[in-house]
Amino acid sequence: MSKLVLVRDDKFQDHITPEMHPESPKRLVAIDEALKSSQFINQLKEAQPRLASDDDLARVHKESYIEQLIGASNEAQQSAKLVTIDGDTCMSANSLATAKLAAGAGLVAIDSMQQSAFTSSFVAARPPGHHASADKAMGFCLFNNIAVAARYAQQTLGMKRILIIDWDVHHGNGTQALFYKDPSVLFISLHQYPFWPNTGWFTEDGADEGKGYTINIPLPRGTADRGYVAAWDQIVKPVALEYQPELILVSAGYDAHQSDPMGEMEISSLGFAVLSQRLAEVAKETNAKVTCFLEGGYDTQALSESVLATMQVLNADDPANLSLRVGSVSQERLEPVTFDDNPYVVEERVADVKNHFKEYWKSLK
Ligand SMILES: [Zn+2]
Repeated sequence: MSKLVLVRDDKFQDHITPEMHPESPKRLVAIDEALKSSQFINQLKEAQPRLASDDDLARVHKESYIEQLIGASNEAQQSAKLVTIDGDTCMSANSLATAKLAAGAGLVAIDSMQQSAFTSSFVAARPPGHHASADKAMGFCLFNNIAVAARYAQQTLGMKRILIIDWDVHHGNGTQALFYKDPSVLFISLHQYPFWPNTGWFTEDGADEGKGYTINIPLPRGTADRGYVAAWDQIVKPVALEYQPELILVSAGYDAHQSDPMGEMEISSLGFAVLSQRLAEVAKETNAKVTCFLEGGYDTQALSESVLATMQVLNADDPANLSLRVGSVSQERLEPVTFDDNPYVVEERVADVKNHFKEYWKSLK
């Protein structure tokens, strides 16, 4: 029996980026091909996305910003050229509609799991979202898809505690800014540091009521499966169990993969399966459902096999005892396969983060 809902649509390829831009429609084509060639597509439930409404977007974004995007969209349509709205973010004729569909896709994912046996969902959409703030596009992102979904779950389903886990190689600075003072959304980000966008040190830990509810785990270049699993087991898992979220949303970027051309981390495809396994474990123990949102990931081979691995784990009856094959690597019980460049720095960093947050979380003491 399938447990996973996949929200996908060919229309997500209509957001056009410049030639050679890493965030290209080919990323989704590769994921589709992996789903078909493995025949995994037949084992899950597919759902069509819907456009985010003005109200859905207004829970997160300023009206003036949405008007700015409408202006840029009109300009792109009239000139039939790409319009740059931030250093590396642009809009094509159909980008606004595609971005609204990406922001609405998460809402369909959440609704599909409500009052059904489906426990997890994957939103294979673009443009990505985690760098977008209330009033600014940034880093290939137009609307903050995961934030729109979190606010939707709170305001339409009455959820009080939402956990966002961000494992994209870049710090989810847009998401952090949107929930910085808000304890109803716990934001935990694992990312390369120092690295673009140069935020996400662990002393950025929330403000006012939200103090302690932003947890940054800045990891050194070269962190691999082992380091990520250590950070997960020592910080993400205990804090998640203590928080008892009603819903878990994941900014699932795959640019921390060892083959990624942008990130400088060393997670293997099987490593992403291991992280997904741990995610499934936390979801089970907290009785929360999970929605993953595609963020980065720019090597199409690494991206497609890692996304497939994530979905296979989340769809499994017993993720903890899953045997999985990724490329030529297979294991009975999933264990980390790649090793950190500098295990001592990783270990020390995880200890420093844990030490900093024990003031807010008794499970870290
Ligand atoms: Zn990224």
